[in-house]
Amino acid sequence: MTVSLTHRALSAADPELAAMVAAEEQLQSDTLRMIPSENYVSQAVLEATGTVLTNKYSEGYPGKRYYEGQQNIDPIERLAVERAKSLFGAEHANVQPYSGSPANLAVYLAFAEPGDTVMGMALPMGGHLTHGWGVSATGKWFRGVQYGVRAETGLTDFDEVRDLALKEQPKIIFCGGTAVPRTIDFAAFAEIAREVDAVLVADIAHIAGLIAGGAHPSPFPHADVVSTTTHKTLRGPRGAMLLSREPRAKALDKAVFPGLQGGPHNHTTAAIAVALHEAAQPVFRDYAHAVVANAKALAAELLERGYDLVTGGTDNHLILMDLTPKEVPGKIAAKALDRAGIVTNYNTVPFDPRKPFDPSGLRIGTPSLTSRGLGTEHMPLVADWIDRGVTAARAGDEDALTTIRAEVRDLMAAYPAPGLPTA
Ligand SMILES: *Cc1c(COP(=O)(O)O)cnc(C)c1O
Repeated sequence: MTVSLTHRALSAADPELAAMVAAEEQLQSDTLRMIPSENYVSQAVLEATGTVLTNKYSEGYPGKRYYEGQQNIDPIERLAVERAKSLFGAEHANVQPYSGSPANLAVYLAFAEPGDTVMGMALPMGGHLTHGWGVSATGKWFRGVQYGVRAETGLTDFDEVRDLALKEQPKIIFCGGTAVPRTIDFAAFAEIAREVDAVLVADIAHIAGLIAGGAHPSPFPHADVVSTTTHKTLRGPRGAMLLSREPRAKALDKAVFPGLQGGPHNHTTAAIAVALHEAAQPVFRDYAHAVVANAKALAAELLERGYDLVTGGTDNHLILMDLTPKEVPGKIAAKALDRAGIVTNYNTVPFDPRKPFDPSGLRIGTPSLTSRGLGTEHMPLVADWIDRGVTAARAGDEDALTTIRAEVRDLMAAYPAPGLPTA
């Protein structure tokens, strides 16, 4: 195993750990990464996360800190906030949440009391754990009621959402999810939220980059609060942001700090600022549209090969495959594809007859491969690999998986990514 030259100090101080990092770099370099929540950040974002900003404590907000020595930190956080507001057209931005889950928890703290009713999409239908699902703190400390999708279409049924909201009177309604392959109708959710006087939270963690790049409609002006991670399609460091209209700003800020968190991760704040700057460039618009074009092209290729896709396709970066007709459980397929160098995740499909830890679906997406420069012309090949991999999984054909692994490695060698070793 070669140790990366960019980690000289790390290699000298801790060769054991350095070798593990180098192995991960090699893995990310060699494989076709298709987990829709993952991406490759730029060299600039990588560098920002590795700065001395990690040494600094800054509890509070710019101009109102509980620690001295903020001469450089305050302008960095202000820059990140201004860039977030400008990119998403928000009146307010908080860039301190440590990640998407704590950002969502801060929303509960801001707008609900323990035991209050909150509403979100059910986890097995494509929602996120933090939208009030039972095993999450949000489902234990609050009364989560869940909407789903129509069995025939896989799409949200707004009559059902409205009926449920009128009956349950939630304080907060979440829209958005982790396995939603279609455009979120923010306006339709806003109308329902207004009717029951609930705070509408658009959780755009997955699609933030698409929104920034104009490849998905904006949640503003419809949503009261927008919650997002920064590390998925937005291609920033692991972190999160809460965006809002002005009337909700104070409650959100108080909930993040001192309500939920201590000192912000300033190195992450800096890297978020860099990612937001990158996302405001014209080439990022091209990227966002290419992600969607690739996903649509891949969906068409998979349909042609007889695959069953939830909702029949995709509008965004994500495809949810139902492998039931192929008679291969999602987990078996995901593990076989992993051995073939194609990294996906198994996932429940709506109304899944199988268990969540061994479901029928496979969730794939195009953000990472698009970051590496693959285009629609590659999607027939990608669909072939997936098809051959799933077929090999059913047949128990390890040789076929090994063959695909070599082909994947060959192609990916021609499409380098920032921070990774080249062949
Ligand atoms: C990823 C995701 C989150 C949580 O983000 P973490 O950073 O993993 O905590 C929240 N909501 C949605 C919709 C997500 O996709």
